[in-house]
Amino acid sequence: MTARVLVVDDVLPNVKLLEAKLTSEYFDVLCATSGPEALEIVQREQPDIVLLDVMMPGMNGFEVCRHIKQDEATAHIPVIMVTALDQMSDKIAGLEAGAEDFLTKPVDDIALFARVKSLVRLKVMMDELKNRENTGASLGWVKAGEEAETFEPSNTSILLVDDHEKAAARVGRMLTDMASVSHSIGGEGVAERAREKNYDLVIVSLSMRETDGLRICSKMRSYEETRHVPILVVVEDSEHGSRQLVRALDMGVNDYLVPPVERLELIARVRTQIRRKRYSDRLWENFHISMQLATTDAVTGLYNRHYMNSHLETLLHSARRNAKPLSLAMLDIDHFKPVNDTYGHAAGDEILQEFATRIARNVRGVDLAARYGGEEFVVVMPDTSRHEALVIAERLRHTVSDVPFVLSDGTEINITVSIGLARLDDEVEAASDLLEQADSALYQAKHEGRNRVVVNEEAGGMQASHA
Ligand code: GH3
Ligand code: MG
Ligand code: MG
Repeated sequence: MTARVLVVDDVLPNVKLLEAKLTSEYFDVLCATSGPEALEIVQREQPDIVLLDVMMPGMNGFEVCRHIKQDEATAHIPVIMVTALDQMSDKIAGLEAGAEDFLTKPVDDIALFARVKSLVRLKVMMDELKNRENTGASLGWVKAGEEAETFEPSNTSILLVDDHEKAAARVGRMLTDMASVSHSIGGEGVAERAREKNYDLVIVSLSMRETDGLRICSKMRSYEETRHVPILVVVEDSEHGSRQLVRALDMGVNDYLVPPVERLELIARVRTQIRRKRYSDRLWENFHISMQLATTDAVTGLYNRHYMNSHLETLLHSARRNAKPLSLAMLDIDHFKPVNDTYGHAAGDEILQEFATRIARNVRGVDLAARYGGEEFVVVMPDTSRHEALVIAERLRHTVSDVPFVLSDGTEINITVSIGLARLDDEVEAASDLLEQADSALYQAKHEGRNRVVVNEEAGGMQASHA
């Protein structure tokens, strides 16, 4: 992973040292030697992360950080404060100014790279989601907005995993005003239990006696339900602790604390994580809405033509690569126009919905059913021979014709469908060829009297299966 890092320090040798370290890891490095210069570069270049010296004449690092975080255009850029002194008061001031983390000079390379990479990885994902949200918003699908900023026990839940009862109780007390805190002493199945509740944050001690805290973190990152839940680890200030921390950040743990946990630092870090969780929850939700709207047909809930076309290409490639058969059915409701003309358009829509439901219920999970156009549907059947496809198509035809469609006002209408079948063979080069072949078989079925299935033959002749 590469990223653009802005290094800010009023002492040029410090800048050069960090620049050399980062360049050797293939980061792209920008430099600034004063606060105002840093802000100007942040605005203009939009770096992926800022390493910011605290002590600078004129505008100090806290002020620079506050400016970055107050401007909506730059607030998402992570900031790491770099300080000569390991002072708790500095740390708190930095976190309150909105900084994501703190490193002490001389900067330890491993800690630096691990932290930069983990923050950049998160930012890349958030940027992408944000882009998609903007697209969705411009299409009128989703609303870009603000989420609640308040944290209280009624709307915020934290899981604390630590076998050290006293330390856990202490941390729990520090958080009682802002969250309802559940405590677990570790053991098997903590990650599994975390899946069942949408925690806003999980705090895991990495120095438990019986339980491997890193294992819990890695499991949480692998489960769908907990993949985006922020994790804060508590890690000892020792060589073993540093090694654990690098692994933790590498697997996607978001932040860490070193015991004894200090109240203000804890609260500042917890707030940052929960705020980001709320923001990313909203982005994910909007992303899923956009995905669904982009791929499904609003009337029937089946996939739409656009999705089917692009996915069909993928299915063709995979069938070719694995030397598997593939069949495609094109369905068109018979004499549908008279139905609309007689019962009205709304009744027609009801029929379309019921039709789609019957089709969806009678194809397999691997089959792809899509609404191709008005009253035309397509079913793509991977790993299905011509003969199997014919059996399935006959079943579909019968599910439509054998039971009348009942409108919401009780009216019963008999509906039939004509089906054209095609299969992947040497003559098919692109998805459009397969669709064309199915379409010409469908045309034949209509021509021969409807309510029937016709198989397209590569030799040009057709084979019909009569009603
Ligand atoms: P054929 O057996 O030859 O397919 O006859 P048909 O009447 O079904 O075919 P035609 O293509 O002439 O008419 C299709 C009709 O489908 C026209 C239109 O009124 C109706 N239709 C298409 N899309 C929708 C829709 O979204 N809702 C409703 N209610 N009707 C639709
Ligand atoms: Mg029709
Ligand atoms: Mg038609």
